[in-house]
Amino acid sequence: MTAAGSPPSVPRRPLAARIADLITVGGPITVADYMAICLGDPDDGYYFTRDPFGTAGDFVTAPEISQMFGEIVGAALVEGWQSVGAPSPVHLVELGPGRGTLMADILRVVRLKPELSEALDVHLVETSPALRAAQARTIAPSGRRPRWHDSIESLPEGPLLVIANEFFDALPIRQFVAAGGVWRERVVGLGPAGGLAFGLGAGTLDHSRLPPELHPARDGAILEASTASTAAMTALAARIAAHGGLALVIDYGHVRSAVGDTFQAVKAHQPVDPLAEPGLADLTAHVDFAALARAAAAAGAAVHGPLEQGQFLTAAGLLQRAGHLGAGKGPEVQEAIRTAVERLAGPREMGKLFKVMAVTRPGVPTAALPGFHRETP
Ligand code: SAH
Repeated sequence: MTAAGSPPSVPRRPLAARIADLITVGGPITVADYMAICLGDPDDGYYFTRDPFGTAGDFVTAPEISQMFGEIVGAALVEGWQSVGAPSPVHLVELGPGRGTLMADILRVVRLKPELSEALDVHLVETSPALRAAQARTIAPSGRRPRWHDSIESLPEGPLLVIANEFFDALPIRQFVAAGGVWRERVVGLGPAGGLAFGLGAGTLDHSRLPPELHPARDGAILEASTASTAAMTALAARIAAHGGLALVIDYGHVRSAVGDTFQAVKAHQPVDPLAEPGLADLTAHVDFAALARAAAAAGAAVHGPLEQGQFLTAAGLLQRAGHLGAGKGPEVQEAIRTAVERLAGPREMGKLFKVMAVTRPGVPTAALPGFHRETP
């Protein structure tokens, strides 16, 4: 309904055209700005317009593969809460909860521990209104009333129990390209035909303080840095250092910082050109766990791991859980459970590529954290 005399609504220009306009006016944009616009534009941002999860969507995450993932993570949070001194009250926080499946599975496990269940309230850090609505629907049967936040900054003070699964890979990265012995910022500009194209910006990165393996040796090599990830981890770790608690960060990525291009776009389970369909494909990059660990340590927290997801899930009881779930069931159900175990923990599936890192206050022994038992501190 429009009020009399109001102008007719003008159809919005597609996101690709609006990004091109932005570049025409203000010059090329950084890869981080491009990623932030594609994922977070309030009208056409990828997470704002759709539910990307599942076989009918663009990609499948661990909690969507099987309830076993959330149950194991939930049990690890319950046991981890005890290992960090069972703080009460405590805020249970999820960063980037997607459909809310993981939180719903965690809450089912938490109910089995009344001391924790009664001590906690639920907070979800999520920017997409569409996904907030999905999370509300998924979590409603638990009887919990979550509170939503745009960022870590607005979480209430106090001890935290945090889970972040595939959150950090969605945060914007900057890229730098080795050119003539310096790292030049990679930018998104307009190519000769007017389409979006990668280029080299004027900005350079001072590499004098980087370790030698991150110096710009071979022309064309790419170095990535995620200021947004570092800032999020700094905020999280500072709170844990001050108030106690535990954060579990699960994502795909590497244990050591390294040179390499990991910026990728995925649509309907297939890799696509990241510049081809802004807002219509998921954009991610590998998480640099070494950078996250440095940020957490600099903020005064202790870091445990990272270790491979397969190792973590197995040590935290995945096979026992699978056996329990499959007991007395028919061959089809048992086969589905076996397939899920393989996808979550198998070395050629998520088991090696995905890593798990825990953050606590200093002084918590690594071996006291479930799933980390076999890690030497
Ligand atoms: N954890 C879920 C979803 C992962 S997808 C799962 O495992 O299935 C990434 C999630 O992070 C989405 O919910 C997305 O909307 C959210 N997200 C992405 N960038 C964000 C940001 N800057 N702040 C808050 N949430 C963000």
